[in-house]
Amino acid sequence: MPELPEVETVARGLRQTILGRRILSVTLGKTDFIDDPSAVEQHLPGRQIEAVERYGKFMLLRLSAVTGEARTATNGDAVPASLLVHLGMTGQLAPAPAAQPLEKHTHVCLLLDDGRELRYTDPRRFGRIAYLTKTPLAAELTGFGADPLEVGREEFADRICGRRARIKALLLDQSVLRGVGNIYADESLWRSKIHPARLGTKLSRKEAETLRRILQDILQKAIVLRGSSISDFLDAEGQPGEYQRHHRAYGREGKNCYRCKTPIRRAIVAGRSSYFCPKCQPTPRGFAALPSPRRAKERKKITLRRRAAKERREAKENRSASSSSKSQPRESDGW
Ligand SMILES: [Zn+2]
Repeated sequence: MPELPEVETVARGLRQTILGRRILSVTLGKTDFIDDPSAVEQHLPGRQIEAVERYGKFMLLRLSAVTGEARTATNGDAVPASLLVHLGMTGQLAPAPAAQPLEKHTHVCLLLDDGRELRYTDPRRFGRIAYLTKTPLAAELTGFGADPLEVGREEFADRICGRRARIKALLLDQSVLRGVGNIYADESLWRSKIHPARLGTKLSRKEAETLRRILQDILQKAIVLRGSSISDFLDAEGQPGEYQRHHRAYGREGKNCYRCKTPIRRAIVAGRSSYFCPKCQPTPRGFAALPSPRRAKERKKITLRRRAAKERREAKENRSASSSSKSQPRESDGW
C-alpha cells in the first residue's frame, strides 16, 4: 500500500502536471469505492484544481468554486471544495491525453480544459474517492495524528512514550502519526535498533527522539527516490520508485542483517508481518517471534521423522496386537 513517500511522490507529480487546470466533465466506471458518485459527477465540472496536497496517505485536490454559467448559488458550487483520493493498494492517478485508449480498470476520468484527462485506475478498488465541502472535509481530517515529517521532538515523545501499545502498532496508528505504513515502520525501527514489539511506555525519550529523527530521514530519502515499488506502485508519470533497493529489514526474512550478519526474522506484531534483526533489535521479554525459516524447516523434518517412527511403532504394535488377538482365540480354543 502506498505510504507517505509514495503518496507524496504522486502529489508532487500532479502538482507539476495538472495544477491550474479546470475540470470540464466527469465520466465514471465502477463506483463502489466512491463515497457519493453523483456528487462527484455533479459538483466537479467547472472547478479549477488549485492545489494538490498530501494528508497522511490521502491526497487532497483543492478545487476552486465553480465559475461561469455552470454555477448555481444553492448547491454549494459557489464555494471551494476538495476531492479526497486514497490510492488503496493499487490505485493510480495520472493525466493522459483524452484521445489515448483507456487502461484496463480505469474508473474515473476527469476531462481537463487542456485536452487531457485525469484518470484514476485501480484493479483492486481498495482506494477511495470522495467529494467533500469544507465541513465534511474538516470532520474527515480530525482524528488524524501528526505528520511524521513535521512532528517535533516533544510531541513525538508524548505520542509514543505514554502508550502501552507496541511501538510498531503506534507507528501504524494513523491517529498517532499520519502516513507511516508497514515498510517505513520496519525500516525506521531496524535503523533505530528498536524491536517492533516493544511497548511505547518502555521506550526512553532518548530512544523516541532517535526513532523520530531516523523516521524523518528515511521518509525524506524515500521521497527523493520516489518511494518504494514493491508490487505495482507507479508515480504520476508512470515510473516506479527506487527506495526498495535501500530496504534493510522489510521483506528480508532469512537474509543477513546489513549491520551484524544475523538473519533477519519475521514476527506478527500489530497483526502485520514485521521484519527485524534479533541481535540488533533485542526482543522484549515474553514476546515470541515466528520460528526462523531454516529452523521451521528443520522442525518440520523432525516432526515428519517422529511421525514416521510413530507410525512404524503403531504398525508393529498393531501387528503384534493382531497376532495376540489371533493367538487369544487359539488359547480360548483350548478351553
Ligand atoms: Zn543486526
